[in-house]
Amino acid sequence: MRLHLSDGNMILETEIKFLAGIGSKRAEMLKKELGISTFKDMLYTFPYRYIDRTKFYKISEITEDLPYIQFKGKITRIENIETPRNKRLIAYATDNSGDEIQLVFFRGIKWIKDKLKPNIEYIFFGKPNVFRGQINIIHPEMETAGDENNQINSNIQAIYSSTELLKDNFLGTKAFNRFQSALLTLVYDKINETLPEYITTQYKLISLKDALLNIHFPQSPELLKQAQFRLKFEELFYIQLSLLRQRLNRLQKNRGFVFPKIDNNFNNFYKNNLPFELTNAQKRVIKEIRKDFAAGKQMNRLLQGDVGSGKTLVALICMLIAIDNGFQTCIMAPTEILANQHYQTICEFLKGIDIGVRLLTGSTKKSERKLIDNDLTSGKINILVGTHALIEETVQFDNLGFVVIDEQHRFGVEQRAKLRYKNIIEPHILVMTATPIPRTLAMTLYGDLDISVIDELPPGRKNIKTIHLFENKRLQLFGFMREQIKAGRQIYVVYPLIKESEKMDYKNLEDGYFAITQAFPPPDYVTCVVHGKMKSDEKDFSMNYFASGKANILVATSVIEVGVNVPNASVMVIESAERFGLSQLHQLRGRVGRGAEQSYCFLMSDVKLTTEARKRMQLMVRTNNGFEIAEEDLKLRGPGDIEGTQQSGLPFNLKISNLAKDGKLLEYVRNVAFEILNEDNLLELKKNSLLRETLEKNFRKSIDYSAIS
Ligand code: ADP
Ligand code: MG
Repeated sequence: MRLHLSDGNMILETEIKFLAGIGSKRAEMLKKELGISTFKDMLYTFPYRYIDRTKFYKISEITEDLPYIQFKGKITRIENIETPRNKRLIAYATDNSGDEIQLVFFRGIKWIKDKLKPNIEYIFFGKPNVFRGQINIIHPEMETAGDENNQINSNIQAIYSSTELLKDNFLGTKAFNRFQSALLTLVYDKINETLPEYITTQYKLISLKDALLNIHFPQSPELLKQAQFRLKFEELFYIQLSLLRQRLNRLQKNRGFVFPKIDNNFNNFYKNNLPFELTNAQKRVIKEIRKDFAAGKQMNRLLQGDVGSGKTLVALICMLIAIDNGFQTCIMAPTEILANQHYQTICEFLKGIDIGVRLLTGSTKKSERKLIDNDLTSGKINILVGTHALIEETVQFDNLGFVVIDEQHRFGVEQRAKLRYKNIIEPHILVMTATPIPRTLAMTLYGDLDISVIDELPPGRKNIKTIHLFENKRLQLFGFMREQIKAGRQIYVVYPLIKESEKMDYKNLEDGYFAITQAFPPPDYVTCVVHGKMKSDEKDFSMNYFASGKANILVATSVIEVGVNVPNASVMVIESAERFGLSQLHQLRGRVGRGAEQSYCFLMSDVKLTTEARKRMQLMVRTNNGFEIAEEDLKLRGPGDIEGTQQSGLPFNLKISNLAKDGKLLEYVRNVAFEILNEDNLLELKKNSLLRETLEKNFRKSIDYSAIS
């Protein structure tokens, strides 16, 4: 293998096994565990924290709540402990204060035993723990004092996250320090700049090579900050540049239908059928959409609004405009229950107005399906409501002009894209979500879409009271439920559903159903069940039974999470609430509080909770605000795990920025990108050629996310 020393880009593509000290076997591990296969991958594997190398703790100062620390010490004795179940080695280290600390090794015992010599001063690194009242450090990393000389010097030590397997093979932080040092020595001079000079100058960014050097070996705290800023800036900037450029492209390319007029259907509905005043937020969003409808460009808009904020009605009103202009419309929902409900709601709203509304789902009968197909192509159907069934190729419209996708995060990227191509000119698209996405995440995930927000609930809604209870309060809970039922209210009891073990989930639900029917025996009480394994007509039957008020209690898995509307239900009991994520809890809670009565949400949980689970419960009790919950969710769990983005995943792999923390910077660089494109939308100016090249190189393979809807 000849290294291409002449070209920085080439050398960075070198396989990682060729780096001094790695070799094939370790290279494989690095690839498998951390996805590192080239020099570049290694260089862009950033530390997750730093420690001050000039600070050595005294053993007496070490407490369990300290993060990663370092101290100097000598080994006094070694204990080998072997029980049938576990083997471990405890080395006792002391410093000149005479205090002692335990270093514990479970693996590589023989090697460690040979390596640790008495009377030699070592530097140990690790995270202190406490076990049976004793402070210890498990698998500390170590070096002989003075051993680190052949590395790039830095007083600030980078700490890299590693995995068990890597650590077992001595690929922990110290190894990474060595690799990065070797690598930077080799490539530093050859790292090409990736931002044009006018940008680095204007925004006071240090060079890429210095940023990479200082991120791994900070030469000073100030330089570390500048390195972080430069790398985050670049990362977020290119994402925004790419998204905004796609958006511009779309706006330039995609002609859209023009819906210039407002006519009978709309006016009729507004005058005669609209049962209440629209909220200001609803009015504003309808205006935004009307503007798009008139602009001659294809609309691609995301509508965010908390549960119960009245998105369906907004969608319906916009559909009427499309229909007034001679076009067909459709609305797609992720579950049959929800599609059914939309169908009923829409029919109810449109009573007395001559508009063809039909329902198409997986369980639509063949004969009915034929009729629908006919009426679609003949244009008799104005609104088609349905599930995934809508995207099948056999579904052909005469003139589809406007598409609504409800709970859009429940659909895969391709599923959503298919609806776009149901007409020669792409129809206008409105995707709706009740899982509020924090602004920063929305800007990254949907940066190329236009976003509308309904940030106001219809008047008269009472705040839902949320109460967190342990099992010992169950009797009181049941008592309260009886009172509510007596007062005419209805109740949901929801059990968690985890895909991996459907059997167990079902058992949870069955046991729960049994317990509920014991405590609320028929004929005084009527309880029905809905879960994912039921056939859809059984589900519908149960749901309708509950919705029509015939049942007092609905026992369900989280299939009811999405969109279901039973205004008379005033109590939501969530069992094993700790097993739900925040936005799921919020969605479930949103099933109540839809009528005039005071509503309640009970979170039943185990007494033993992880810190994170406890925080989730506390937050739910504290606030009803979906956006606040979404922001917290982002902080607690990190963007990759946010519900609603799991399916689509974060389209960009962020190596250094954190959407929960770097929101301000994200907005800042979005503006920078915006201004650049404003001046030079195709990036044709000479000063922008580096931007264009870098974009094309790095984003070539990424999916066109402007097509997500
Ligand atoms: P979501 O945004 O969660 O989809 P829905 O569209 O299901 O909310 O609306 C929730 C309920 O609020 C429905 O019963 C709907 O008829 C009602 N609603 C919608 N807009 C208004 C309004 N402006 N005033 C009063 N009630 C409204
Ligand atoms: Mg809805």
